[in-house]
This record gives sequence, C-alpha cells and structure tokens, in this order.
Amino acid sequence: MPDEFQVIAQLFAPLAKSFPGALGLTDDAAFLPPDALAETVVTVDAMVAGVHFLPDDPPDLVARKLVRVNLSDLAAKGAVPFGVLLAAAFPHGTSQDWLERFAHGLGRDLTEFNIALIGGDTVATPGPLTLSLTAMGKVAAGRAILRSGAQDGDVVWVSGSIGDGALGLQAARDQLALAPEHVAALAERYRLPRPRVSLGPCLVGVASAGMDVSDGLVQDLGHLCRASNLAATVDAAAVPLSPAARAALEQGQSLLATLLTGGDDYELLFTAPPSATADFLDLAKRIGVPLTAIGRMQAGSGVTVHDASGQILSLGQGGWRHFSATGSGAGA
Ligand code: ADP
Ligand code: MG
Repeated sequence: MPDEFQVIAQLFAPLAKSFPGALGLTDDAAFLPPDALAETVVTVDAMVAGVHFLPDDPPDLVARKLVRVNLSDLAAKGAVPFGVLLAAAFPHGTSQDWLERFAHGLGRDLTEFNIALIGGDTVATPGPLTLSLTAMGKVAAGRAILRSGAQDGDVVWVSGSIGDGALGLQAARDQLALAPEHVAALAERYRLPRPRVSLGPCLVGVASAGMDVSDGLVQDLGHLCRASNLAATVDAAAVPLSPAARAALEQGQSLLATLLTGGDDYELLFTAPPSATADFLDLAKRIGVPLTAIGRMQAGSGVTVHDASGQILSLGQGGWRHFSATGSGAGA
C-alpha cells in the first residue's frame, strides 16, 4: 500500500484542480469563495464495506455510489453541488491498483457532475473499508426545499421509479429469478444510483416540501409528514415502477411491500399544491425525468397506502433502519 502522502498527491490532488480554494490539496484546509446571495448546503454520508456495498464491488463503482448518494441529498434541498470532501479509511494492504480504480471512478463522477474534490483525510484501518463523503452545494438564500413545508391538500410527487434499489440489492446478490436484462438493470441501479441533480434546483420555489427517497418510500414520506405535521395517503397503483420491477411484481403480491418500503431508490419525493400539476408535467418533459403524482397530504399523522380497490395495505415496519434487529435492506 502506498503511503498517504503519495495517495493524496498522485490520486486525489488531480481531482481538486478545478477548485482554486482547494490549493491542490497541499495545505491544511480548503477555502470557499465568499458568496452574499447563496447559502451553502452541506451533507455527509458514510459507507462501510459489507453494509452499504459488497466488499468485492468494483472500486470505481463504490466511489461513484458514494458521490451519488450525497448528491441526492443536495438535490433534495434544491441545491446545485460544487464540491466534496472525502474521509477514507482503507484497510491495511489495500493495493495500488484498487486505489487507482477508486480514484478513477471518483474522478469520473466529479467530472460528470461538474464538481471538485476540495479536501479530506486518508487513513489506514484494521477494519473494513470505511468511506465518508461530505458534499456541498449552493441554493439561493432562503429558498432551500425543506421537509417541513407541506400543506394540507398538496399533491405528493415522486421522480423516476420506486423499488428498484431494494430489488437491485437482491439482483446484485443473484437472488432474483428474473430475465437477465431485468437482473442487470436492477443490479446497475443498486450499484450506481442516479441522483436527480437536474431536477432538484428546478423544484426551488415550486415544491412546498421535499426530500430524497433513500430509506424506502413509505418510511421517508413518514419523515416528511412528521416534519410538516400532516398525514399522507398514497395510491399504490399510481407508484411508478420500472419494467424490471413490474416483472418482479408479477411473481407475487407480497413483493409490493418490498418495493414501497425498500431503500436505495435515490429518487426525489416532494409536495406541491394541485395548481402546480401542469407545471410539473411540463418540467418532466423538459428535463427528461418522469414525475408522477402518487398521493395527497391531509390533516392528521402517518402514511396510509391504498391498493387499487381502496383497501389499506399493511406494510409492516415501513422501511430500512440501522440499529434495528428487524431491518432487511441496505439503505444509506
Ligand atoms: P493534515 O494532517 O493537516 O490534516 P493531511 O496530510 O491529512 O493534512 O492532508 C493534506 C491535504 O490533503 C489537506 O488539504 C486535505 O484536505 C487533503 N486530503 C487528505 N486526504 C484526502 C482525501 N482522501 N481526499 C481529498 N483530500 C484529502
Ligand atoms: Mg494540518
């Protein structure tokens, strides 16, 4: 294993070039340019081998997933990302080849999302590979989208499709008996989420509340309800599913609970008054991101999911939780 200074200088410093305040990762700290009009939105996510990704996952995909789960949180607040800090604890004996592939994947996504690596820390550990990425973005001062702004009568929207993350974990573990193209699509979705970075900033000033779906649709909508002091009803038949998830669902109804409560979707969940509906359908076309109305906010508390015949679906615990004995997925 190369020493930490070599890793920083050779593999990480090139990823800092586009951000002058990072000083090429040659100083103790980085500097953000002053900005009177915008506020900086900051988020951090940790990923541990064996918990959030499989220990033999390709290193470039591990790096890219780490970037993407964080960008999803920034998108949820309506922020445009500009930089990340990486704290990495590499197991003793991690090879140069592994580190190069990791840095290559990191650089690829930093370029794709037009952001820079502006700092971090590099250590060795006797434990499993542990990564923490802090991501920063900008949003016009006072305009960020919060979980707490939903109003009684607002429509509940989601982007993309729901449930692919949970199925993708099974696909990546080869536990899904589906056509190979569906298994491949789902596994890809689990390993490489697509954060809705283009959508988030477009929701500023239009969405009344919003968050990303990382721990399961029902549980996450529950968080939004609590923050907004409201209840939500969801029409299960309206929840958008990918062709692969539809194929999986045809194998048995009990799977619907997995789709609605599983983690790792990284879609945006948001609310807006019914009068905004036409605007969202236009926006979806303009940016090429499907947007689907799935329910309503109303007085009360909690999330109720109805099936096509109006029956209330019982979904058990409702989503992935760390620190619980009964969780069955892998959320971030
Ligand atoms: P210090 O000991 O003063 O904390 P380090 O030697 O750990 O400094 O880091 C030197 C520089 O390299 C700092 O600017 C730091 O932010 C950066 N750096 C260290 N590790 C990483 C990393 N994994 N990713 C990005 N930058 C890093
Ligand atoms: Mg120092």
